[in-house]
Parts: sequence; structure tokens; C-alpha cells
Amino acid sequence: MMRKMTQILDVPFDALTMKEAVEKAKSFLFDGKQHYICTPNPEIVMEAQQDKELMRILREADLVVPDGIGVVWASRYSEILLTERVAGYDLTQQLLREIAGTQETVYFFGGAPGVAVAAAKRMKKVYPELKIIGGHHGYFDDEEEKKIIADIKRLSPSILLVGLGAPKQEKWISAHLQEVGVKVAIGIGGSFDVMAGNVKRAPKIFRKLGLEWFYRLATQPSRWRRMLRLPKFALTVLRKKKQR
Ligand code: UDP
Repeated sequence: MMRKMTQILDVPFDALTMKEAVEKAKSFLFDGKQHYICTPNPEIVMEAQQDKELMRILREADLVVPDGIGVVWASRYSEILLTERVAGYDLTQQLLREIAGTQETVYFFGGAPGVAVAAAKRMKKVYPELKIIGGHHGYFDDEEEKKIIADIKRLSPSILLVGLGAPKQEKWISAHLQEVGVKVAIGIGGSFDVMAGNVKRAPKIFRKLGLEWFYRLATQPSRWRRMLRLPKFALTVLRKKKQR
């Protein structure tokens, strides 16, 4: 089926609700092909303006969802309106819930040493039937990386969650998807930290109001520098709109 896409500063996003995005991700498990999912926020869209490789990877992804209210906002100046934010964390959770109790399996790759293990433990509590068949932290040298790749190949999970931070995880997936042979790979940023309970999601009211970014800024002030890209993103979107 043709994808309904909208371009935000040349990054194509799938115009799907959370529910539709979950269905689409699930369908990737059954068509015999390999897929990867990207969940860019405005910071990544801005980064892709300077990073050709990242832009190519985003443009070739099988599913691109707006993990950031800024992207949803920007779609008002674009061909098709995005209806809601589809946070990578929530998409991943729903997908894990869907595969729990089925034959499908998942591998947790990324985060500081110990985090993937703690995340797996917590997720086993939430989804007791989930088959987490392996994991590895995200700090490795070339030699270690070869071992990680071999480990994933050997275990052959259906889904590979890659939490190396953006854009490292997108580049890793693009470089190694074929080799590791999984059906679906998703770049999930710091999601293992949240799954492990080390980092809290914003309370629901913040998320409902589209203010999760504000909550994160207030609770992790070290992120302020990266967030300077948000106003720049907004200005770039508005400037582009004027030129049309
Ligand atoms: N990380 C990693 N390897 C690295 C760099 C980062 O595994 O070489 C992990 C880090 O421990 C954290 C995640 O990647 O769990 C990045 O989290 P952040 O919230 O910064 O994600 P982003 O917003 O960059 O996607």
C-alpha cells in the first residue's frame, strides 16, 4: 500500500495515529522482509539538515513517526497534517505488549552497562510473557561490536531495540541491519533508561498538553543546549513556509 507521507524540512513522516503506527510496525513481522523504524524529534530533523547520511537513512526508513510535538506542529505548514505525536517510547511499549505471548522475540541493545538488563527485568514484570532473548549495553569498541553482532545473529530476535542515542543508533541500524538479520529494528534513544526506571517520563498532563519537552528541560537541565535547536527548528519551518 502507498504510504501517506508528509515532509518536514525534507524528512518524510508517516501520517499515522499511534494505533495505526503500531499496526504497521506489527505487519513488518509478517512480510518476510527487513525493516527499520525511526522516531525523529525536531532536534534530529535539524541534524539531518547538516548530515546527509542521516537524511538518507531517515528517507529510506520503513516507518517514520513524529517523536516530538514540534514535528506535529510543523506539519500544519506541510501537505498533510500529522494528527498526533507518536512517541518512540510508547510505540515500542505497545509493540512489546503485542508480541508478548506470541513466538516473536526481542533483543535489548544499548544504554549504559547494566541498564539493558534492568530494563529487561522491569519489562518482564510488565509483560510476563514477553520473550526477551538477549541484550548488551551500548558502550563498545570495534572488537566488542563484532561480538555483539554475532550474538544478535545467533539469537535471531524478531525485533532489535537499539538505544544508542540519535543519530548513532540510526547509523548503526543502517550499517548492520542486513547482517544481524532481524525483522524489525527500532532506534529508541534513551528508552532503556525509562524502562529501567532510571529516568521518568513526564506526567500524563504534560504529555497531553504537548509539554513533555518542558518537563524534560526542567528535570534534566543538562539538555538545554540540545534544546536550543527547538526555536531554530521553528524558525526554519516558518521561513520555508514563506518561501512557498
Ligand atoms: N548511549 C549508548 N552508547 C553510546 C551513547 C549513548 O548506549 O555510545 C545510550 C545512553 O546510555 C542513553 C541513550 O543512548 O541510554 C541516549 O539517550 P538520550 O535520551 O540522550 O537519547 P536521544 O534523545 O539522543 O535519542
